[in-house]
Amino acid sequence: MHLLDQIDHCGVVAPDRPAHVSEGRTLTYGELRKQSDAFAAYLTETLGDNRAPVPIIGHKEPEMLIAFLGTVKSGRPYVPIDLSIPAQRAERIVANSGAALTLTPAAVREALAKPSSAKPQRVGPDDPYYIIFTSGSTGEPKGVVITLSCLTSFVDWMLAEQAFPAQAEVFLNQAPFSFDLSVMDLYCSLATGGTLFSITKEAIANPKVLYQAFAQSGITTWVSTPSFAQMCLVEKSFGETMLPSLRRFLFCGETLANETAAQLLDRFPAAEVWNTYGPTEATVATTSIRVDRDVLARHSPLPVGYMMPGTKITIVDESHGIAPDGERGEIIISGPNVSPGYLGRADLTAKAFSESGGIRAYRTGDWGRMRDGLVFFDGRIDGQIKLNGYRIELGDIESHVRSLSNVSDAVVLVVEKGGKLDSLAAFVVLKERGEGSDFELSLGLKKQLAERLPSYMVPRKFSVLEAFPMTPNGKADRRKLAEMLR
Ligand code: AMP
Repeated sequence: MHLLDQIDHCGVVAPDRPAHVSEGRTLTYGELRKQSDAFAAYLTETLGDNRAPVPIIGHKEPEMLIAFLGTVKSGRPYVPIDLSIPAQRAERIVANSGAALTLTPAAVREALAKPSSAKPQRVGPDDPYYIIFTSGSTGEPKGVVITLSCLTSFVDWMLAEQAFPAQAEVFLNQAPFSFDLSVMDLYCSLATGGTLFSITKEAIANPKVLYQAFAQSGITTWVSTPSFAQMCLVEKSFGETMLPSLRRFLFCGETLANETAAQLLDRFPAAEVWNTYGPTEATVATTSIRVDRDVLARHSPLPVGYMMPGTKITIVDESHGIAPDGERGEIIISGPNVSPGYLGRADLTAKAFSESGGIRAYRTGDWGRMRDGLVFFDGRIDGQIKLNGYRIELGDIESHVRSLSNVSDAVVLVVEKGGKLDSLAAFVVLKERGEGSDFELSLGLKKQLAERLPSYMVPRKFSVLEAFPMTPNGKADRRKLAEMLR
């Protein structure tokens, strides 16, 4: 069945069931169906034959869901842009997507006030369904194109594996819609007639509000990064009494530590904990494993799981051969969930994607190993890191620091504390030292950078150097710089 029919089905059989709850606002399945249909008609009338992607800038408003579904019902992919993305970067994303129209929740409401009788034609299996922009190593965000069939293969797998009961689940939506982890909760919920329970960035920043929201949420399936659950575990009352209906934790996006999984199993004895792994380029997740006491006892670090059926993971060693069982190599994913590539960037697509016999493959840039069919993640090959669940390309930040008016060169590194990634530190060589203390200089650089990058990408610490130490090849010596941070 077409995913959109699956979603609309609930609008027909249970129109009053809540599809989305956010900050006290509820959107029912009946409203979602009607309003997304109306929005699709509006887009069809407004844009005619222009099938360019439609960026939607907002946060957790119900209009986001109406706009996502309305856009694909009109045959166009949507580009979710969360409000945490600074205006300048959002502008780059909009420009790179070639959009004819950019929407906000207010614009969606206005559009819904203008009924249209146009007849929209929805996306087909090979059409782009959404485009999520991720951190690119050149400083330019790159748009990962996900087709309807990529999304369907992911959602079908999740539904078969997790067997969510129909019209009974409440899914936590923690991730912003511009992060593909949110696709897991959004579409598992919509496809099964579940309720998506969104928490806003303001609630996340205010523990009292957050835990109150949890206590009233009725969440049954928790979807988040491990870092977010780790943050919640700091609160002693975060447990079964606060969330009595919780039966399942689904994690993705970064390493799930044994300690986090063990604490969750203690605090939520009736819940399962799952680790899943995958890049945006292969539609959210490609492997999964239920982490029970036995898995915890046998593995440290934890595995990222078994491959989803129909998709293949190959570990390729440095001589481009298949690595023997247990040996390290690059994780290559091939199968129907692999994206056709980056929007308008044939050069970047050719570097990371390939096709053989009609099956697409993606080089993840992740180190991994396979043992008895289980996949283990061993870190990044390049400078891409995960900090508090956010995917960050250090090269992306560096190119922005370098573009500041008084900076001639920059290196950005991650500071580790107690074996964990803790924060970002930047080393800069200035064009002119000028007046002012190092502290004042740092403050000035941070302020300028905050206008260009989301706050999680602004280094906490800046150090001004006369010159960088060099490797024999004449490159900045990152190892020596890292030693300066200790
Ligand atoms: P994103 O495209 O933002 O989802 O980031 C994808 C990257 O996050 C992957 O290529 C991995 O480096 C990392 N990642 C995703 N899931 C996991 C996991 N379960 N454990 C460790 N790292 C992960």
